[in-house]
Amino acid sequence: MQNLVILGATGSIGASTLSVISRNPQAYRAYALVANASVDKMLALCLEHRPVIAHMVDENAAASLRSRLPAAMNVQVTTGTPDLLCLMRSPDVDTVMAAIVGAAGLLPTFEAVKAGKRVLLANKEALVMSGRLFIDAAKASGALVLPVDSEHNAIFQCLPELVQSHLGHCDLDTAGVSHILLTGSGGPFLTSDLTTFATMTPAQACKHPNWSMGPKISVDSATMMNKGLEYIEARWLFNAGPEQLKVVIHPQSVIHSMVQYVDGSVVAQMGNPDMRTPIAHCLAYPQRIASGVEPLDFFKVGQLSFHEPDFERFPCLALAMAASAQGQEATTVLNAANEIAVEAFLGRQLKFTDIARVNELCLGRVPAATLSSIDDILMLDAEARRYAVEAIAALAQ
Ligand code: NAD
Ligand code: MG
Repeated sequence: MQNLVILGATGSIGASTLSVISRNPQAYRAYALVANASVDKMLALCLEHRPVIAHMVDENAAASLRSRLPAAMNVQVTTGTPDLLCLMRSPDVDTVMAAIVGAAGLLPTFEAVKAGKRVLLANKEALVMSGRLFIDAAKASGALVLPVDSEHNAIFQCLPELVQSHLGHCDLDTAGVSHILLTGSGGPFLTSDLTTFATMTPAQACKHPNWSMGPKISVDSATMMNKGLEYIEARWLFNAGPEQLKVVIHPQSVIHSMVQYVDGSVVAQMGNPDMRTPIAHCLAYPQRIASGVEPLDFFKVGQLSFHEPDFERFPCLALAMAASAQGQEATTVLNAANEIAVEAFLGRQLKFTDIARVNELCLGRVPAATLSSIDDILMLDAEARRYAVEAIAALAQ
């Protein structure tokens, strides 16, 4: 029996995770659920999954949840960072699903890594921000980090065991890998007329053709910043240089990514676009469990197509690739700027095309810092958020 903490339990990945573990109750238990502020959703999850602990980041939400939960259920409601970090280290916890959205996930995810847990990583922003520190912490503690992001999960599945067991420190050349082919659907605006981009609305941006996801990652998919963050994520997880990483547009999202070997072989992982597949893979690895995902029907799929990415259409992808080459300071700044820009776009305070402008302006202000601790990273993250707010104000004039 694996005892799980689900960080971001009320979100899209949280729901898919709970769905997979409900199908496999003999092997997995939702020991603790963690969310930000949505009391109604958390209450419903507690009634259904009966966790030992329910942690709400928002203090008022915790108080409200406490008053609404039937006392007889004995759910311990906690709040505050010390309690959350203590939960990450608890000897009762085996596995942590890291599915908080954005930089807010960094501290608890990093704590779980330091504590040597089995860490199922959906929260790509945490790795984008902390890169080398994250990988080194996992090596030092012996934490088993497994990628939930569908592309990275696919790549992981296509790599040999020797690479899988040395995530972050593997040598792709020795393994005979020539390229990692990171696929992306291109999002909802892949073929939209470029002249309409400036007036695209949050509702249009969040309408992904293949995947159902939270609002932030949906907007990131529309700008293709999501692929940019994934490029940086792949760089760290697979210890890949820029010459080893290629982005391939594949609109059907049936192939979730591929690995190309020196002998000419290309190994791909395929399936219906449903996050329960990579989640089930990470939960059970190296075994397999049922996820509830429909088997792929090739006769229904029909055609698979592939294109090169268009950087004029998707400037955020180019910015992320450049930031990756520039280093950790740039990727931390980019991630923070993008979170603020996406929030402003979702709040209708920023045009869709200005998300890239804000990111670019902030990347022009990357300080010459050396990031040697999580505190350094959080300080730079806060500073970059201020740059982004300034950039948004400047663009509004
Ligand atoms: P979501 O918006 O549906 O859910 C976000 C969750 O994070 C919620 O439970 C929310 O309560 C919690 N949260 C938000 N702010 C918080 C804070 N300050 N402190 C603590 N918790 C907070 O997001 P999602 O689509 O489930 O994505 C979660 C993560 O997984 C993201 O990093 C995303 O990039 C990654 N991911 C998602 C998908 C997907 O299909 N949804 C695929 C790949 C990777
Ligand atoms: Mg992905």
